[in-house]
Amino acid sequence: MNILVFGPNGSGKGTQGAIIQKKYGTSHIESGAIFRKNIGEGTELGQKAKEYIDKGDLVPDNITIPMILSRLQEDDCKKGWILDGFPRNKVQAETLAKALKDAEMPLDYVTEIVLDRDIAKLRITGRRLCVNDNNHPNHIAFDAIKPVEKDDGTLECRVCGGELKTRPDDQDEAAIGKRHDIYYDDQTGTMAAVNYFKTQDSKVISVDGTPSIGDVSDSIMKELA
Ligand code: AMP
Repeated sequence: MNILVFGPNGSGKGTQGAIIQKKYGTSHIESGAIFRKNIGEGTELGQKAKEYIDKGDLVPDNITIPMILSRLQEDDCKKGWILDGFPRNKVQAETLAKALKDAEMPLDYVTEIVLDRDIAKLRITGRRLCVNDNNHPNHIAFDAIKPVEKDDGTLECRVCGGELKTRPDDQDEAAIGKRHDIYYDDQTGTMAAVNYFKTQDSKVISVDGTPSIGDVSDSIMKELA
């Protein structure tokens, strides 16, 4: 099963992607996580991407599109994939649709987590990233995924006890604003990409992102065959 997951930063799209991955055993491909891994490893791609990411800008299409299209050709994607964070604009959406068609790879579902911009912003600043596994969601404001507080007051991953980090672009108001400007832009931005898929053959699942993580995932799972 091949699935796209859309949602503004802060909507829990990564968390939902991880839940779907666990249930269906598909590969969870997160464009942002690939960039962060490259930044951590100091690769040339990472160095190029960092200057855009820190400001909340999109990494240019000529870097991002080939990176994702070649990732989809890797062996593990044969068992299905969940693509999260890509496409982020209309050009990426159209390019992806064409590449999938050329490769005769179906796109089975397009999932859209709908969330108000103000709520999304409130959620962003509280999330924490586990250094061991990007699929270990931690958030200081949600009981279900609250990190564990150690005796010395520091926080550790509630799943594996790993060290937790914040993303620099999650603590910067201007960067958050820019990322949301891009997401909610229905002319050339991410909403334009979502709307593009609504005109295509794939089944689009739109769910309200305001309830709890479990409720949102129940709404998504109900629709996935
Ligand atoms: P995310 O983890 O999805 O919030 O992505 C973090 C950052 O990585 C974004 O703010 C962008 O700077 C960059 N990024 C992720 N996905 C894309 C994409 N599809 N196109 C361009 N830049 C991206």
